[in-house]
Formats: sequence, structure tokens, C-alpha cells
Amino acid sequence: MKKRAPLVVANWKLNGGTDLICTSVASVLNKSFKAEVGIAPPYVYISDMVNFLRNSNILVGSQNVSKFASGAFTGETSAQMLKEVGCTFCLIGHSERRQMFLENDASCHTKIERALVNGLMPILCVGENDQQYELGLTQDILYRQLHQALPNLELQGKRLCIAYEPVWAIGTGKAASAEQVQEVHQYIYQELCAILGEEAAEGVQILYGGSVKKDNAAELLAMPNVDGLLVGGASLDPEHFAQICTIA
Ligand code: PGA
Repeated sequence: MKKRAPLVVANWKLNGGTDLICTSVASVLNKSFKAEVGIAPPYVYISDMVNFLRNSNILVGSQNVSKFASGAFTGETSAQMLKEVGCTFCLIGHSERRQMFLENDASCHTKIERALVNGLMPILCVGENDQQYELGLTQDILYRQLHQALPNLELQGKRLCIAYEPVWAIGTGKAASAEQVQEVHQYIYQELCAILGEEAAEGVQILYGGSVKKDNAAELLAMPNVDGLLVGGASLDPEHFAQICTIA
């Protein structure tokens, strides 16, 4: 059962600049999407983005957050700072962070707690890599990622999202099929019920990410357990991203 309007989030990764901000803002501003739309630019552009979008419903978020609150942690940005500049959500545990910056399930758990305490909606990214996929280990990997990152959270009155992003589908043009995604999202929902209880699990939106384009957005969103999309590459083309938001 769909819980609320679908959520479509753009993840710009280490891309974009003032030009992309202007063209992206122009292509989503003053459009009325049925979907809820969010954009996660690099940290340094968040304030500009928030300013440009202040009279709109578009959410602005970050691609990461520090697991620390404050102190001698050079290069880090805290959940409180992100909230203060106008972020409403943050991605946590994206596979690129896990692979290249050695983030793990324990750091994801701490980051989720920080985000929730500071009023940010965490979007926890999970998913298996190609080798794990080939070995049929998808559910084992998700089980570990969810059970280690999500226990003992204070979710009363808060919002949490999960983004299922199979690593083999990210930036490869080889998206998972809608049926594959549905099966995995159903499993994620089942584990969310086990960890959080059924009532809290009902409130968690489960997004899919990995080579989402305007051509596959509709069939993915037609699946009963797909509550939104996390869009990387295609979000760097503002018109393409706006089309995905319209489809949703
Ligand atoms: P992609 O990236 O849409 O370019 O595959 C998705 C993501 O990494 O969030």
C-alpha cells in the first residue's frame, strides 16, 4: 500500500555548480508535481539552493552527514549545521561512501540518530554489489545493513526513508527490473516490520535507485512497494529530472 505521495530525490554527487543550480531550479520551480521532490547538491551549494527554492515545496538535502556533533573533526559537517542552513533530509550510507570512504553499518546507525535528533529525515541507502548479487546474497546483505543500522531508533513523529540501490545498477545504465525491485522492497518492508514494528514500518518510504531514467520511472513506481526514486546521473539533466518528477 502506498503511504503518501512518491518521493523523488536527485543525488548530484560530486557534480554541478552555479549553472546547474540555476537551470535545475528553473526546471522544477512553479511546476506542480504530484510527487514530493528533493535535491541533494554538494554541501557548498545547499544554502543557495535553499534560497532559490524558499517559496516552493521542493526539499533540499545533503549527500552525507557527520557522525559527530561538533569538535576537532576537520572537513566534517554536522546534522545541526545542515538543519540550520535549511536541509530537510540527508542521504546516509550511499554505496560510494561505503566503498570509498569506509563507512559501515555502525557509522550509518550513529548518523541516522544524529539526523533524527536534529530534525532531518535520514534516507538510508542499502544494496548488494554485483558479486553478492551473482552469489544470490542480496537478502543476506540487506538483512545485515538494516538490522545493524536501524535498531533502537526514536522514530515517534519522525520520518525515515530507505533507498534500495543495488550497486551493480548505479551509473551503469543497467537498472534492476521492476519485478526484481518489488521483490526486494517487499523483503525490506518485512525486515522493517521486524526491526521497527509494523506501525513504524508502515510510515517508512522505500525508494529505488540505480539507473533510473524517464523511460523506467513509471514501471518502477507502479510496483506496490516502491514509494519513490533516488536519481543520480539523470538528475544532472534538469529537463530529464523534471520529466521523471512529472511521471511520478
Ligand atoms: P544513478 O545513481 O542514477 O546514476 O545510477 C543513483 C545513485 O547513486 O544514487
